[in-house]
Amino acid sequence: MKKLVFKMVLCSFLAYLPVQANAWGLLGHRIVAQIAESYLSKKAKKEIYKILGNESLAMVSNWPDFIKSDSTKKYLDPWHYVNLSPGLSYDSVKHFLETATHDNIYNKINLLVSELYNKNLTPEQKQFNLKFLIHLIGDLHQPMHVGRPDDRGGNSVKVKWFAASSNLHRVWDEDLIEFQQLSYTEYAKAINFSTKEQRETLKAKSLADWVFSSYQVAGEIYADISEPDQKLYYAYNYKYLNVLNRQLLEGGIHLANVLNEIFG
Ligand SMILES: [Zn+2]
Repeated sequence: MKKLVFKMVLCSFLAYLPVQANAWGLLGHRIVAQIAESYLSKKAKKEIYKILGNESLAMVSNWPDFIKSDSTKKYLDPWHYVNLSPGLSYDSVKHFLETATHDNIYNKINLLVSELYNKNLTPEQKQFNLKFLIHLIGDLHQPMHVGRPDDRGGNSVKVKWFAASSNLHRVWDEDLIEFQQLSYTEYAKAINFSTKEQRETLKAKSLADWVFSSYQVAGEIYADISEPDQKLYYAYNYKYLNVLNRQLLEGGIHLANVLNEIFG
């Protein structure tokens, strides 16, 4: 009995541990990677497949979430996000990013990129960096990965997605995307429309710009929540579908730009 009580206490304790949930679910990451692949230069694509072997960008894109099951890889968890207090200006965000010393998505993307330019990495290191880079650029475009520290990027903001219990982070990871009922290849094809002009505009944006853009979207998303267990229905999908699709498309284009720079 004592043992059982202990187990129960442990379980309820674990249930409240501040775990930052995944990221775009499987679909979100694959959509971003699939879109990115369509904009790769021939040379970049060849170099990338030399590193990845017989796995597509889409299929490796979730690996950094899969390895979370390995308890020795716990130290990698903070790489997937950066939490920021509300109401910051662009300059404050930029300053924070440039001076923060804790592991976060901004300084880790910078690190992975700079290491990939280094030709002396082992094949294993190259693969690790590339898989993480593909994943983290996806994560960065999931607005709740630039959410607030107090609620762990929306993880503790409980909402109802139709009849199901969910939270704001998960709505953006999975619920909204899955609601569209498309496979990742169908989804990528359905939203992958961009003009050369749009792509040039995106190319001029910096990593701090991407963070700030997601941060602003996150601000809008938070502002919509006014009560505990708020019910999100069709109107939420109607309001945010364009925003979701823009984030996925821009994530794909930004990822392609970075990969073309490194490998092209
Ligand atoms: Zn992630």
